[in-house]
Amino acid sequence: MKITAVNAIPTSLVVNPKLAIVSAAGAHPESHYLAITIHTDEGLVGHGEATVAPAWSGESQGTALVLIQQMLSIALIGADPMLTNLLVDRMDRMLIGNPFTKAALEMALLDLKGKILGLPVHILLGGARRSTKIPLKFSIGAFSPKEAARIARHAGSLGLRAAKVKVGLVVEEDIARVQAVRSEMGDDFRLAVDANSGWTEADAVRALPALECLGVNALEQPLRRGDFRGCHRLRQRTHIPLMLDESVFTPQHAMEAIREDASDFISIYPGKNGGILRSMEIAQMAAAAGIECTIGSNLEMDLGTAAMLHLAVAMPNLATTVDHDIIGPLYYLEHLTQAPIRYEDGCAILPEGNGLGLEVQRSQK
Ligand SMILES: [Mg+2]
Repeated sequence: MKITAVNAIPTSLVVNPKLAIVSAAGAHPESHYLAITIHTDEGLVGHGEATVAPAWSGESQGTALVLIQQMLSIALIGADPMLTNLLVDRMDRMLIGNPFTKAALEMALLDLKGKILGLPVHILLGGARRSTKIPLKFSIGAFSPKEAARIARHAGSLGLRAAKVKVGLVVEEDIARVQAVRSEMGDDFRLAVDANSGWTEADAVRALPALECLGVNALEQPLRRGDFRGCHRLRQRTHIPLMLDESVFTPQHAMEAIREDASDFISIYPGKNGGILRSMEIAQMAAAAGIECTIGSNLEMDLGTAAMLHLAVAMPNLATTVDHDIIGPLYYLEHLTQAPIRYEDGCAILPEGNGLGLEVQRSQK
């Protein structure tokens, strides 16, 4: 079997305005993504999505489209779609960076491979190590305390018992926001914070006593990207576990985090890491160092969310004391797949079926 074509269709979705994310990394009111289809000479196809965000990785809908059309598709067309490792390595040699763009193609390759073999993607990864229901935390943007409390109530109405609150702007306002969510949802609600690289080390040190009093269970990316030493120092000052997100895009970054003893958790997900297989490499390295991984998010649509779920069930070290961000479809009012990802009891459910386990709508084929 040979790959005959790689199609990328610009796709834009409006985030539910009542839930839009605002953070130290900026606002995310709309998603401008690509829907990917890989075709073969035997009629089977694989689907993926490029969930690009310029402020996150420097990739946009436009750069992803050009790079796929002019470069990465050339790496794939004519190739045997079963040779995932070889094709992923080939894309990495051809193009530095651009993880969300590459992840979209890898996702479609694994979806296709699963359909060829008649197996779900998580079986291709070695099979599920845990329940196929993954517990979630909602993401609450950097809004006023009142608005943050309203969004927390919405999360509660969806059955979620955990959230992360965006901080990393003005420390006193950040704390007031976290306080409002704690007061609204009570002491049993699991609460993390995500500074999205927005704090200085002095800001973080100033925020720590209040965050400790508020029972925060994870401090995500408090300092600027790559400041492993600063995170190491922060860890000496608090019992709140520290999580790295923006600092760990690649296995090399994860190695640096481990060497510098800079984190308790590493947030991974296929888009940020350049695909499911690269996320798995980071998870395995972290597992060897005794570090658990959480699944992060860039507001994926349903296919990207399915890719996260296949990874989550198969990886060796999914965190159990902090919940996961497999939440993208909860923020959109429309879906490109025939059936959306299912949510139940505050968990995302692994879709059943071959490949990623979702069928796209006819207009996307
Ligand atoms: Mg984050």
